[in-house]
Amino acid sequence: MSLFNLEIYDFTGFQVSDIGCGTPMINDENFLKSIIRRGVNYLDTAYQYQNGNNERLIGGAIKEFERESLFITTKIIVKKEMTADDIYKMGKAAFERLNSGYIDCLALHMPSTVDEVRNPAFLKAMTKLKKEGIVRYCGLSSHGQSWWNKSDAMDVIINTAIDEGYFDLFLMVYNYVQRDMAEKLLKRCREYDIATTLMKTDPFGGFYSNTRKSIDKYIEEGKEMPQWMKTIHEKYSAKHEKAFPFLERYGIEGDNEIRDAAIRFVLDNQDVNSVMITFQNQNDIINYLKLSGSRFTYTDNQIIQNCTEELSPFYCRHACGMCEEVCPHNVPLNTIMRYNHYFTAQKREKYAMELYASLHANNAVKCTNCDAPCEKACPYGVHIYDLLNIAHANLSISLSGA
Ligand code: SF4
Ligand code: SF4
Repeated sequence: MSLFNLEIYDFTGFQVSDIGCGTPMINDENFLKSIIRRGVNYLDTAYQYQNGNNERLIGGAIKEFERESLFITTKIIVKKEMTADDIYKMGKAAFERLNSGYIDCLALHMPSTVDEVRNPAFLKAMTKLKKEGIVRYCGLSSHGQSWWNKSDAMDVIINTAIDEGYFDLFLMVYNYVQRDMAEKLLKRCREYDIATTLMKTDPFGGFYSNTRKSIDKYIEEGKEMPQWMKTIHEKYSAKHEKAFPFLERYGIEGDNEIRDAAIRFVLDNQDVNSVMITFQNQNDIINYLKLSGSRFTYTDNQIIQNCTEELSPFYCRHACGMCEEVCPHNVPLNTIMRYNHYFTAQKREKYAMELYASLHANNAVKCTNCDAPCEKACPYGVHIYDLLNIAHANLSISLSGA
């Protein structure tokens, strides 16, 4: 029996919990079982999470539960040149790894361009997988664009998928700072009866207090700060001082209250079905599940309004990339900031560092002697130059201890 009264929404004819479980960090069957026992019945995985082992782990963990009570999405990366047979084989392999009778939803994992969304081979493969009872629904996840690899924006990708007419579910970015694009998409999904699940719902995700903590530690220990940290300290002390009274006024001791307000905000939107949470420990289970079915309050509203105002310059919008084309070195800065989000907010440090390393020389080292035209091009006034330095320090093994 569920310990929490999870709010249930209608979801492609299936009832899912409003708090879902994104599983990339989970490598313990018992931990996953404890999440399911508390009433979370929607799991989101991908081949890319632990090279298929995450799907295997889910398949093992759910054996003791009634299969029909759970909704499992897994995702595959499909490139334009792939044939229907290639895609069918990927779907079949995911089905075998999950080993649980069927896949509720097989989703395109972050297609880069509309060509990948319109790939007729994907529809052909999906039709076959559905016909064979391997897959029930078809989905898509999108983080948005990166100029450096010529990808399309999240709204372009998802609107194209809606127009294609055969997608049942989308996983997209939505939070109180980044509202307009997602709200339009969510509304459209509601009109077309397409299920919606969310990621990146807490825009600051521990970044603010992490940075502050690092600075405080250097000050306390009387250590020489790296230059990037000095710059941040000098530039933003005033902003920090301004932000703290408001945090105290609302009894906010740390990031948790801000995170709670952020999640209640998105769940308050009637066009949202479920929010994917990256649970990491038992405390997360308690902290996140208490938000299920809870109401977005006046205080929550004050918190997010103040955070938007005070912390907005510290947040490089997910799924944006608008300034990337002015970068003389083709640095995928929005992607780098996403990796930093994995590092700071989701505490997926190793994974984030591996992703960053995979950029090879195309990383924020190139920013060192740059006068940051990207920052001037940002319409949101994000201090991206300093954020990139912080991200580089977090994500680079050589600098992380600096
Ligand atoms: S710095 Fe500004 S324009 Fe550039 S990706 Fe971030 S939010 Fe978008
Ligand atoms: S600081 Fe310069 S090199 Fe770095 S992302 Fe911005 S424009 Fe590119």
